Amino acid sequence: MDEFELIDRYFARVGAARGDVVLGVGDDAALLRVPEGHELVACTDTLVDGRHFPRGTRGDDVGWRALAVNLSDIAAMGATPAWATLALTLPSVDEEWLEGFVSGFSQLALAHQVALVGGDTTKGPLTVSVQLLGYVPSGTALRRHGARVGDLVYVTGWPGDAAAGLALLEGRLAGQGASRGALEGKFRRPEPRVAFGARLRGVASACIDVSDGLAADLGRLAAASGVGAIIRAAELPLSRALFALAGEARAREFALGGGDDYELLFTVPPSARAALAAATGAAGAPACHCIGEIVAGRAVRVLGERGELPVPRGWDHFAT
Ligand code: ADP
Ligand code: MG
Repeated sequence: MDEFELIDRYFARVGAARGDVVLGVGDDAALLRVPEGHELVACTDTLVDGRHFPRGTRGDDVGWRALAVNLSDIAAMGATPAWATLALTLPSVDEEWLEGFVSGFSQLALAHQVALVGGDTTKGPLTVSVQLLGYVPSGTALRRHGARVGDLVYVTGWPGDAAAGLALLEGRLAGQGASRGALEGKFRRPEPRVAFGARLRGVASACIDVSDGLAADLGRLAAASGVGAIIRAAELPLSRALFALAGEARAREFALGGGDDYELLFTVPPSARAALAAATGAAGAPACHCIGEIVAGRAVRVLGERGELPVPRGWDHFAT
C-alpha cells in the first residue's frame, strides 16, 4: 500500500461531516469557515510511544487518547471543538493497528462532532500529533489568569484514578476485579469535559485542564493569576475504586500528583456560586467538588488534618 492509498483508505472520511468544512482531506490544505462573532481556538498535543502511553497499547486506545487530550484543552478554554488535523508517524503499515486507531479516534470525534480535515503521514518511531481547532464567542474564552483571592477552587470528576490505572498497567500498583477495571478504564479512555467547559463560560474566573497533576496544574493557574492557593486534603474527591486499591494516603498522592486526569480545575468567585450550581445541575454534567480556595501569595499549599502536606511536583519532560 502506498502513502496515498493509505490516506484514502484510513483518513479520508473520519469523524463528523460538517457544513463548515469548505475543503477537507485531499488538497494541499483544508478550508474552514469560522462562525461569525467567534474566535478560532487552536491547540495541539503529541503522543510518543512509550512516553505518553505504554508500548504495545492497542491502536483504538491510542486513537481515542490522541483526540481526548486535545479535546480537554479545548474544554478548558470553554470552546467548542470542530476540526482536527492528524500528523501520524508510523514504523510500518500495521493494518490491524491502523483500523483500531481510526475506530478509537472516530468514536470520540463523532461524539463531539469533530471532522478530520487533514494531516500528514510519515514513517518513523510511532508518534501521533493531533491539532484541534474550535471556536468560542469572541471575548468569552476561559483563561488561566482570572483567579482572585477568595475564589473557590473546584475540580471535576475523580482525580488520581487515571494515574492509578497507569500504575496498575505498569505493575506499580496491585489489585484485581471491578476496581482495577474502573481505574484502568479511566487511563485508557479519558472523557474530556467539553460540554461542561462551555457551561463554565461566564461562571469560572480561571480554568485549566489537569494533565500533569492536580497540584502542579493548580500552580500554573495560580502563577498565571498572580495568586496562591490552598487545597484541603480532606476535600479531595477520591473514588471508591482508588480508595479500595491504593488506601487513603496513596490515593491522595495519586489525586494530587498523578496526572493524565483530563479533568477541569477551575476557580469560581463566591458571587457566582448560584451560576455554578446551575451548570453542575445540567443533564450530563460531571461530578464537581470544591477542594480549596485562592489566597494571597504565590504558593500552592496542601492542608491535611495535622498540618501541611508535601506538594507533589507535576510531570515535566525536561526536568533534570
Ligand atoms: P502534501 O504533500 O501536499 O502535504 P500529503 O501527501 O501530505 O500532501 O497529504 C495529502 C492529503 O491527505 C492532504 O490533504 C493531507 O491533509 C491529507 N492527509 C495526509 N495524511 C493524513 C492523515 N494522517 N490524516 C488526515 N489527513 C491526512
Ligand atoms: Mg504533507
